[in-house]
Amino acid sequence: MCGIVGYVGPRDAVPVILEGLRRLEYRGYDSAGLAVVQGGRLERRRAAGKLSNLEQSLRAEPLEGAFGVGHTRWATHGRPSEENAHPHQDCQGRVVVVHNGIIENYLALKQRLVSAGHRLVTQTDTEVVAHLVESHLDGPGSLEGAVRKAMQEIEGIYALVLLDRDEPQRLVGARQGPPLVVGLGQGEHFLASDIPALLPYTREFLFLDDGEVVSVSPDGVRLTDAAGVPVQRSPQRITWDPVQAEKGGYRHFMLKEIHEQPRAVRDTLLGRIGLEDGEVHLEELGAAADELRRARRVLLLACGTSWHAALVGKFLLEQVSGVPAEVDYGSEFRYRTPIVNEHTLAVAISQSGETADTLAAFREAKEKGALPVAICNVQGSMLTREALGTLPTHAGPEIGVASTKAFTSQIVALALLALHLGRLRGSLSRERCRELLQQLARVPHGMENALLASAHIDELCKPLARASGFLFLGRGINYPIAL
Ligand code: GLU
Repeated sequence: MCGIVGYVGPRDAVPVILEGLRRLEYRGYDSAGLAVVQGGRLERRRAAGKLSNLEQSLRAEPLEGAFGVGHTRWATHGRPSEENAHPHQDCQGRVVVVHNGIIENYLALKQRLVSAGHRLVTQTDTEVVAHLVESHLDGPGSLEGAVRKAMQEIEGIYALVLLDRDEPQRLVGARQGPPLVVGLGQGEHFLASDIPALLPYTREFLFLDDGEVVSVSPDGVRLTDAAGVPVQRSPQRITWDPVQAEKGGYRHFMLKEIHEQPRAVRDTLLGRIGLEDGEVHLEELGAAADELRRARRVLLLACGTSWHAALVGKFLLEQVSGVPAEVDYGSEFRYRTPIVNEHTLAVAISQSGETADTLAAFREAKEKGALPVAICNVQGSMLTREALGTLPTHAGPEIGVASTKAFTSQIVALALLALHLGRLRGSLSRERCRELLQQLARVPHGMENALLASAHIDELCKPLARASGFLFLGRGINYPIAL
């Protein structure tokens, strides 16, 4: 994983890129770098280690730029060093690229490029992209076409952002796998791996799909599919508050996010609990809401933390709604012969809505006729676009790599779905549903009380911190929590 930021517009690109990278540092922190163009000159600055090393170098010798790209790296190919840090450039120092992902056929491409006279100087897989694009460049204005040609030769997964020194105020982005978002401003535009990087500047976002290419200048954003055909996609407005993506006085993001759980869960329940009518209101599922009736079986598809939420979900669904539920690991689903038909409700769970394996499993279930529903924290993400209906969690941005509020919000969303299915199928009486909804409505308050005990938890942790191992025990609904 790594973080990418790009900027075109009237501001100095350097502070915008640095601010964005700071907000993406959780995605990679073994080295960082940026490249900007000022007055037709391309300047690159990179540093091994944390982003603060790059910032220090820029303080000592400042740079300015009219447009540029930046990267915070988590190495897959080539050790974390200044030389291997992104952005990487071509022979002429005309094209630079930042990359998230892996170029699988980089060795073959490298050999070919070297025999054609290119000088490659790093151990990374990424560098071949700069040289491939160079080999396809014509005069100014040819960057997008060159990127498109390079994409036909690259095998692997990538989010890429490139610039050409000779094509002022233009960035070209491409996606095949890892996420890439466009932030829309007034007379300025941004590219990034993740929404929080751009929240200080905009709330309007455009999400790229696999195979798409985007060409961005201060006055326009042109999105095209793999064949170069223009794609019309409405921007999504993100309601997250930029302050939510800051540490707000906590020592680190995870601690802040632990404390945000009551709020996240309350927001996820908001407007969905009918305490008077004893019903769950999931009208936002749209067309999927009516079709839920046909579900005779639920297939929960997820990876990582969301997979653990799915295990809790299985328990809730079977107990509350009486529908058989199975949990599949996104990455495994495709490699067997899953039994799916039009009576299968496929629920994909993902915080970002961009988890590649979950998406692939979801598509397969969809192809086999399942009713596709998503539980997701990012409206407009790829998963929500693939789903017939989405039950959004309202956790807000989660920066901590160990999931907290996104996880508990997913469980609450699954509880709502279980209750709703129970009512639809008639397996859950209105009275019992009302009772359970009342309990659910008290969860945020219960979480607040639990968090009040955090000083006590700190005390408990002190002796435990020295333990050499732990054994977690849990049964039933607590079994996935123990896992
Ligand atoms: N494969 C690239 C590298 O090792 C990018 C890794 C990343 O996504 O951070 O430099």
